[in-house]
Amino acid sequence: MFPGPLGLSLAGEALARGAWSLETEDIRRHGIGRHRAVDDTPAGGGPGMVMRADVLAAALDAAAPPGDPRPRLLMSPRGAPLVQKRVRELAAGPGLVILCGRFEGVDERIIAGRGLEETSIGDYVLSGGEIAALAVLDSCIRLLPGVMGAAASETEESFESGLLEYPHYTRPREWEGQAIPDILLGGNHKAVAEWRLAEARRLTRERRPDLLRPAGD
Ligand code: SAH
Repeated sequence: MFPGPLGLSLAGEALARGAWSLETEDIRRHGIGRHRAVDDTPAGGGPGMVMRADVLAAALDAAAPPGDPRPRLLMSPRGAPLVQKRVRELAAGPGLVILCGRFEGVDERIIAGRGLEETSIGDYVLSGGEIAALAVLDSCIRLLPGVMGAAASETEESFESGLLEYPHYTRPREWEGQAIPDILLGGNHKAVAEWRLAEARRLTRERRPDLLRPAGD
């Protein structure tokens, strides 16, 4: 699963140049017994299987020995939703260690036991944490110096200014009866900037009014 799509395109080129790196730890390597079991039945009964805290601890300690300064994330639909502010912090930090769950999830004790930061990529359920981890990594990697050129350092993107981004257009000037707004073709940079800000505000108001409210409201 790793680096998966991050081995391609800009992230992949940056990986090849050593701008970022990735190590994976196979949890099953730390599994119990002949079958290398990583999971067991839930205490209290019910469906599904739960990943064992002792196995996960062994895998985490192999990947990041105690004292490793990197934040440890547990991918979890119960976690704090990932937001661009946290992505920026992670990208500027010493790296990160990500634990990917499977089955019903992990034994609760590993969370406090290894100081895991539960992180969600949205209000829906994936079958495993790997795709969520790829999303976290992708959002961080594109902010690393030199990975995307100027594009990612521009602060006009969605969320960076607290607003959704304004609409983009490129050639042709007219396509299937839809024209590029005249203001974008007039060469008046101030007018363009005003139009973009107004559009960003309109889209945010329409689609994500929650972004306009102060945090905590
Ligand atoms: N029983 C759990 C879901 C388990 S899904 C619950 O109801 O909360 C299996 C694994 O997929 C999880 O342990 C987690 O690592 C990952 N996962 C699923 N949805 C996710 C999401 N929205 N964000 C981050 N990780 C997710």
